[in-house]
Parts: sequence; structure tokens; C-alpha cells
Amino acid sequence: MSETNLSPAGADAASTAAGLMPIPGHVDPMTVPRPTLVEGVTPREDGRTDLVGLPRKRIAELFEGAGLDAKAAKLRAKQVFHWLYHRGVTEFDAMTDIAKTMRPWLAERFVIGRPTIVEAQHSSDGTRKWLLRTADGHDFEMVFIPDADRGTLCVSSQVGCTLNCRFCHTGTMRLVRNLTVGEIVGQVMLARDALGEWPKNAEDIRLATMAGLDDDEDEGSYSADGRLLTNIVMMGMGEPLYNFDNVRDALGIVMDGDGLALSKRRITLSTSGVIPQMERCGQEIGVNLAVSLHAVTKDVRDEIVPINKKYGIEDLLQACADYPGASNARRITFEYVMLKDKNDSDEDARELVRLLRKYKLPAKVNLIPFNPWPGAPYECSTPDRIRAFSNIVFEGGISAPVRTPRGRDIDAACGQLKTAAEKKSRAELDRLYAEKDAALAAEAQ
Ligand code: SAH
Ligand code: SF4
Repeated sequence: MSETNLSPAGADAASTAAGLMPIPGHVDPMTVPRPTLVEGVTPREDGRTDLVGLPRKRIAELFEGAGLDAKAAKLRAKQVFHWLYHRGVTEFDAMTDIAKTMRPWLAERFVIGRPTIVEAQHSSDGTRKWLLRTADGHDFEMVFIPDADRGTLCVSSQVGCTLNCRFCHTGTMRLVRNLTVGEIVGQVMLARDALGEWPKNAEDIRLATMAGLDDDEDEGSYSADGRLLTNIVMMGMGEPLYNFDNVRDALGIVMDGDGLALSKRRITLSTSGVIPQMERCGQEIGVNLAVSLHAVTKDVRDEIVPINKKYGIEDLLQACADYPGASNARRITFEYVMLKDKNDSDEDARELVRLLRKYKLPAKVNLIPFNPWPGAPYECSTPDRIRAFSNIVFEGGISAPVRTPRGRDIDAACGQLKTAAEKKSRAELDRLYAEKDAALAAEAQ
């Protein structure tokens, strides 16, 4: 790669040409033009800009703003993007096709950030959970679930949640803030770091690219190249469709062939049913959809998934029927948490079949045994009840596997994520839920 189009490093070359001694280390130790504030990026105290989470075009603009000519900025942005997302480097110094003199220039102005790991836990079943911290000190979690034929990373979209599904531990937190694009894509990068999965040589890169771009539905083809992280589910903390733009942009980088290069067929976004964003999700993100249905009557869903008071079951199912890209080959997953004596009767199962048929939905149902947390107001249905429920749905012509709980011993299972581990009293919870309900109702006005 040519090194001659480097304008700031050109200063270095010019000083050499003029017979001055080149200054080792930083190219320009005198004045460092600070990068302009970048929208959506948390400013850092040291004035540098974190490049993780920015699209190529934005990186090029920043490079140009910092002094490169347009052509050089575009080229460097392409190279840096590749190093960040395809090779997983965390130092500019490792970018070997970028001139040695250019690398400190980059390091003075930019950083390659990752969320900080506060704690890493290993479950006896192989599930791993990481407690992560943002640069401004907020904690959130991500979980990796290895299986025989795939490895799934469960990614968070928010710190806390505005919603308050009654069976979900995250719902007992307030929303602290949306995660940024860099913090969302940074989870995938951290997982690749931890699993040692960045391609190291040309052959690795070729295989990784093939794996990411391969649209083959066959699960096995992905583990064939030895990769552990094959699938992503947006099922960590938060409601991804309430952080739509950042989730879309982060998944854009995850799916970019020159980015993390995962196929959209390997990514599933789960929503509690934010109807107005569902069509956009299909059009602008294009990943698989999972919907947290959990109940088939208004009364029960109003109670356990309170967003139902705003967006009801029938409208939700219609939005699913209209979801762009859904087909028998790409079914919508309906998640259904099994709560003892709440939503688990034979009648509920039959009503579920009726509803999914009524809307002619290409559906599969995922039955999730309720994962308990301290103070939770529900119990899990019995294994016999779950089996009976599953059989009825299955006999109705809809696949209804029971999800095996993973990582329960380290509180990594669905709905157990919550970073501030303190238990709220009943009265505190009631107050919090009333507050969240009121906010939801006000939004509906
Ligand atoms: N906010 C999104 C995605 C995160 S939750 C959503 O609600 O869909 C991922 C899944 O775990 C959802 O289906 C959610 O309803 C389910 N879940 C939450 N708490 C649970 C618990 N305690 N036991 C089992 N599943 C739970
Ligand atoms: Fe939020 Fe999803 Fe938990 Fe409901 S289930 S409180 S939407 S994270």
C-alpha cells in the first residue's frame, strides 16, 4: 500500500527533506487538532474520538477533518475499518499496511475502544456471562451460550429497560440510558477477543468472510470453520426497538462483509412488541424477528407484558404478519415464558394455535421455562405442564420446542440479567412499576 498520500505524516517527511531531525514518536507534538465532537459518540476526557461504532464514511470525514486530503481519508478509513472489525486490532500500531509515521498520528487523535470487563463468569454448563462497564461508568451484561452446532451471543441494547414485564429481572431496573452503537458492536468484539476468534492470517480471513456471507441455512457449515461465535440474539438487557437507530447501525457493522461479517440469518432481534418500529426493523435491519408474546388473552398479557395496554395482541400479530421478509423459510419466533397457573393451561395452548393460524403466521413457538430471580412474583410451570402445552401447539402444526435454561447458576439465563444486584422491596417495586406504567400511558396519549 502506498504511503505517499499521507498529508500529516508528510510533515515528518518534509522535516527530513529540509535536513531537520525527525522527531521520534508523535508526528506533530506541538498542536494536535482535536477531532470535532461526533454525534452519538460519548466524548472522552482525553479529547480523542472512539472509532468503534462509526461507519466507514464517518471515519473518513473525521480523518479529513483532522487534516488528511479527501482521497487519503477515504483510503485510510477503509483500511482502519477492516483492521477494527475484521481483524479485531486494538492498537493503531498493529495496522501494518498503514505507514509507520501515520500510526502515532492516528493514536493521538483516535482510540479503538471496548467496553471494560468488570467481571467474567463461567457456568457449569459452559455459558459465560460478562459484566461490562461503559466509559461513563454504567454496567450492563452480555452472555455467550455455546452449543454443539453453534455459539450464540446474547447482546444488550440498553442499560435497564423502560418497560416492566413482571417476570423479568431487568424490568425491575429503571432505564439508565441507551447503549451507543460502539457499545453494542463492542460486545461482539469483546466476545471475539475472549473467544480468541479474530482471523489471524489470510486463510482465516477467507474462511470467516465465507462464513459470514454464506446464506446457507445449514447450521453445520458455520462450525465447520471452527468458529465459536456463530449467532447473535438481541435478547440481553433492554428493548432493542426503543433504541432503534443505534441497534440498526450496530447490526449494520456486524453484518457488513468487511465488518464482522455475520449473516442476517444468524441474527435475531427480540421485541416485547413495539409495533411502530417493527416494519422498520424488517426493512432497515432485515434480521430474524422474535416476539415476546407470553400470553394469549388481553387480561393476562396486560398484567405480565404491560406494553400490551398500548399495543394489543391482535395488532401485534397483524404487524408480525406484515413483517418484511418473514416466510416459511424465515419464521417469526414467538417467545412464551411458562408461568405456573398464569398462562400455561391447555386452553391457552389451543388459543395460541388459533391466533397464529388466524393471522397465517409463519411461526415457531419457543417455550421458555420461567427463570426465577429474588422476589419474582411467579413460579415456573411443571415439566409435565410444559410438555402438555408443547404437545398441543405441536399438534396444531406449529413447532414448539422447550428452551433449555442455560447459565442459571450464574444468573445468565433469560430474564435474570440485572446489574445492580440489590433486591427491591415489594413497595419499591410497586412504586417503580406504577411510574413505568404511567410513562407508557403518557406516551400513548
Ligand atoms: N426486551 C426484549 C428482549 C430481551 S428479553 C424482549 O422483551 O423481547 C429476552 C427474552 O427473555 C424475552 O422473550 C423475555 O420476555 C424473556 N424473559 C424475560 N424474563 C424472563 C424470565 N425470568 N424467565 C424466562 N424468560 C424471560
Ligand atoms: Fe424489558 Fe424485555 Fe425485560 Fe420486558 S422482557 S422488561 S421489554 S428486557
